[in-house]
Amino acid sequence: MRKRLWLILAALFLAALSVQSDAILRSTVAQNKTIPAPADVLGFTPGDDRKLASWAKVVEYFQKLDAASDRVKFEEIGKTTMGAPFVFATISTPENLKKLDEYKEIQRQLADPRILGSPANPATADRKARDLIARGKTVVAITCGIHSTEVGSYLSSMLIAYRLASSNEPEIQEILRNTIILLVPSTNPDGVDIVNNWYQKTLGTPYEGSDPPELYHHYTGHDDNRDWYAFTQVETQLVVDKILNVWRPQIVHDIHQQGALGSRLFLPPYMPPVEPNVPKQIVEGYTELGNYLAKEMRAAGFKGVTTNSTYDAWSPSRAYSHYHGGVRILQETASCRLATPINVKFDQLNSREGYDPKKESANFSPTWQGGEWHIRDITNTMTTVAFFLLKHAAQNREHWLQRFYEIEREAVRPRENGELFGLVFAASGLGSEKLRDLFEHAGVTASAIQSGYLVRLDQPYGSFAKAVLEAQHYPDLRDQKGNPIQPYDVTAHTLSLLFNVNAKPVFAPFKFRPARWGTSGADYGRCPRISERNGLYKSFVPSMDEGWTRWVLESERDRRCVSYTSLTDSVIKSGNLRTRFDTIIIPDQPRAATLNGHRKGAMPDEYTGGLGAEGVKALREFVEAGGTLVCLNRASDFAIEQFKLPVRDVVDGLPRTDFYVPGSILRIELDTTDPIAKGMPKESIAWVENSPVFEIKSDPLAPVRVKILAWYPKDKDPLLSGWLLGGERLKGKAALVEVGMGKGRIVLFGFRPQYRGQSLATYPLFFNAITER
Ligand SMILES: [Zn+2]
Repeated sequence: MRKRLWLILAALFLAALSVQSDAILRSTVAQNKTIPAPADVLGFTPGDDRKLASWAKVVEYFQKLDAASDRVKFEEIGKTTMGAPFVFATISTPENLKKLDEYKEIQRQLADPRILGSPANPATADRKARDLIARGKTVVAITCGIHSTEVGSYLSSMLIAYRLASSNEPEIQEILRNTIILLVPSTNPDGVDIVNNWYQKTLGTPYEGSDPPELYHHYTGHDDNRDWYAFTQVETQLVVDKILNVWRPQIVHDIHQQGALGSRLFLPPYMPPVEPNVPKQIVEGYTELGNYLAKEMRAAGFKGVTTNSTYDAWSPSRAYSHYHGGVRILQETASCRLATPINVKFDQLNSREGYDPKKESANFSPTWQGGEWHIRDITNTMTTVAFFLLKHAAQNREHWLQRFYEIEREAVRPRENGELFGLVFAASGLGSEKLRDLFEHAGVTASAIQSGYLVRLDQPYGSFAKAVLEAQHYPDLRDQKGNPIQPYDVTAHTLSLLFNVNAKPVFAPFKFRPARWGTSGADYGRCPRISERNGLYKSFVPSMDEGWTRWVLESERDRRCVSYTSLTDSVIKSGNLRTRFDTIIIPDQPRAATLNGHRKGAMPDEYTGGLGAEGVKALREFVEAGGTLVCLNRASDFAIEQFKLPVRDVVDGLPRTDFYVPGSILRIELDTTDPIAKGMPKESIAWVENSPVFEIKSDPLAPVRVKILAWYPKDKDPLLSGWLLGGERLKGKAALVEVGMGKGRIVLFGFRPQYRGQSLATYPLFFNAITER
């Protein structure tokens, strides 16, 4: 019965599919016979059940496409973290491809109206802009595969490229004529192979379709899409420096997948809040285009489409383009199990922020009744959205360019008396150097003046600088029952706080004198000795904090003179750790994941089990024999529980209505006489996210050495940036504690001192905890 129902639905679905995706599958329409189809290189058509491709095959396909088609220019622009080629394709008509430099120049001038005339009298610039808009093309970047288990998008990239290269349908011709498409088959090529290798290894076993037991980006895992303002990773740098800053696209179409049990498809507009520095024209742009796409997808027969839900527009960490004149069109399609189909029952569908997939509503329709869900459903959804998007970009070319110009005209307008003119930050210290470097990546000019570096707001990307230099005030958003609405990600991105750089607003008219600062390049000299006897626990339940910790340790190695060895469950369980290590770090992870790992039966045996009682025993012996155990954030709860430490987490288990810090910057005070706080100011910051808050239990019968090294102030608001509910509960409570055990000690961090490679301010605490004894 269910099967028949599904067949009927499938038939309706296929019948309703527009010509677009049909054409991708069959490519019958006036196709140029010499253009290779993906199947000619891969041996299968992307979207076939249980088929994934290696990165080498993807690159080979695009190389062959480039060789055969005069509409495709494919190039390697660098190497990934693990040394794979990082590539992208530029796609347009042969005539347009011959004039790419001219189109780049048009983009550059529209993006900076100061080139066209004085901002004080924009009439001249407006006139010149009209001519540029008449000649320009809509530039659309399509970014796939940043999240490597979301396999549909890199597969779709080949289908999209093939149709653009081979079809002579009038609407494809119109797209090619009016747009320049920058297609990135994967913004994380390493992950294509990590996931494909795992999938091939587990295919046909009970573990087919499971996620790999390692991060799919060597350092960041899923956080690779949280790096669009800090630019710590090479992949982010390549996309920003060599694609986005060169081309300044009006539209960035970012193709993703979400969980299997919500909507089939999410499109913008984003749910509130919008970060206040995102220009209003950007909000208008993604609202207009997102609503158009949702309407077209519904008309084409796609079901379960939602807008204005789950995903917000709060942070530059995912949306570089929102601060650089372009709209980000996030597309999230429901997943299957990698390329393995699933069967979803209607009853299994469950609510997300802003909609219930079982009920039609203003921002969700029509309902999807459940059934089989294949990788082909995913690639069909992705490619169909992409071609509607390209159609809009082509048919509204002047409109997109006009809006692009207007965003930047507003950005560079002279600031009136009393208006915010810019921000000045200090010109010395590691943080200020990093900040200047970072602004260079972001296309923001920070000029040396006598009192430091000045970032003027009347420059094209001034809003980016303002967003990362000022504190965030996240709105207290509640649902109908009064529960806090979960933000999509964290709520703060104030780099001046994270980098410990004092940034001050200055108002117009602001008089300043230019100065020349030599880039000091801060020579830290050679390490007299590298501290090597450090272990870092690595769980088979991949922890992004573990990856970031590796990144921080490696990138700071020559400055802080510390290196490390990764320790898996079996190495820790085998014991005798003290002979090889002085310090062992347990990264942030839910305590159950650290203790129990994957459950038996969910993964091949060698990846199951976690540290377990044996691992806990080995760590206890390590500490009692004089070792230092450093626990980061939630790992502190693991240690408190397993070693029965005389410390209580006072916010453990509290409902969100009582206490909630979904990723914010708080104020802490420090005991700077302790070696762990050496080099720190008396007051600093803490990155707090799902964090424990400590209280010392007094037990006169079991006197233990406990020392509080950092605490939340008793009489000041602890919140510096982001969102905090129930802040009263942490006033005066401890944030960093050292507990003696045997000859050794356990250091409990109630925050993330090396958060996403950004919290430079608290790096000294982290490194001192490893090395100072
Ligand atoms: Zn994703």
